[in-house]
Amino acid sequence: MHFLPIINDSPWQIVKQEKNKHKNTANTDFTFVPAVGTISVIKKRKLNWSDNDAPPRKKLAKFLSSQRQSPLGLIWDSHDYSCSYDSFFTILYNIWKDNPEKWTENLQSIENTYLNLLVKGFQNMNGNQTFESVRNSVREKLHKNYPSIFPLGHAGTSVGQLAYYMLKPTDYNATSQAICSKCNNEDMEVDEIHAYSVHIASISTASSTQDWVDPFEYPIGQFCQECLSPMVKYVKYDHIPKTLVLEYPHTDIETSHQIKFVVNGKSISLYLRGIIYHGDNHFTSRVISREGQIWYHDGMLTKDTCIEDGTLQDMSNEELKECQDKDLVLAVYSQI
Ligand SMILES: [Zn+2]
Repeated sequence: MHFLPIINDSPWQIVKQEKNKHKNTANTDFTFVPAVGTISVIKKRKLNWSDNDAPPRKKLAKFLSSQRQSPLGLIWDSHDYSCSYDSFFTILYNIWKDNPEKWTENLQSIENTYLNLLVKGFQNMNGNQTFESVRNSVREKLHKNYPSIFPLGHAGTSVGQLAYYMLKPTDYNATSQAICSKCNNEDMEVDEIHAYSVHIASISTASSTQDWVDPFEYPIGQFCQECLSPMVKYVKYDHIPKTLVLEYPHTDIETSHQIKFVVNGKSISLYLRGIIYHGDNHFTSRVISREGQIWYHDGMLTKDTCIEDGTLQDMSNEELKECQDKDLVLAVYSQI
């Protein structure tokens, strides 16, 4: 049985793939749209082919793609800086929205107070709650319990800390075991609580995707009583995570489109659903749909909408590492 996720680089399967009309590079500026409620890159088109035309399939696909709806984003709060919440919650919301019933269950199964509050808020957004009021209620509770980690006002909040506190379960969800790196000596398995949020850089010297194969291997600074070699702690989740946040700022680690977990010969994949970027004391994000469509969100500039930003399949790893002069800090994966 594999403890550890196997990382694949197989691309998303795009059902109807568009030609790469989008040419985003890290240095290309977006034209942001000042007008409220409009998105310049999505132009409404009329169905204008006649009955005599060749099969309109192509035109229909084009038309449908032009009608793609922007994911809902969070509007930045200029009094209590909210960009960490805006970027992370916008990605989570758009995962949840794919299948509210299933994702309510998936996220509630983590049994995290803050995450439960967020999910409840998502459910109430059809009623009188705005996305912003949902964000604020979760934030209030985090602030009340951890005021220095989740400050109000013009202070910044680490999005890595936010993901950690939101995705840490109440109950044991993992086991760990220290095993000698040389001989067969191993300690007993121990039950542990592990957040579904992993800081890759702190536990691995991985520089390539392939090195990520063993992300949950912690050096622990202990030595084997039999042969004096270093002991290594292996951690495995009891169940394959429904969602997983990988934090790897300032590394050359490649962002896989898919992470495959293999348990008892059965493999389950988690897909890249969002990336958070940081620069100039501000977080922004790329929200990625199940089909691999990428949307850019900045609570300060795009506010409650997102801007089309190409497809995952057409974007190189270098292009994923940067966005509007900001650098990747973490990626959000989920089952679909
Ligand atoms: Zn040993």
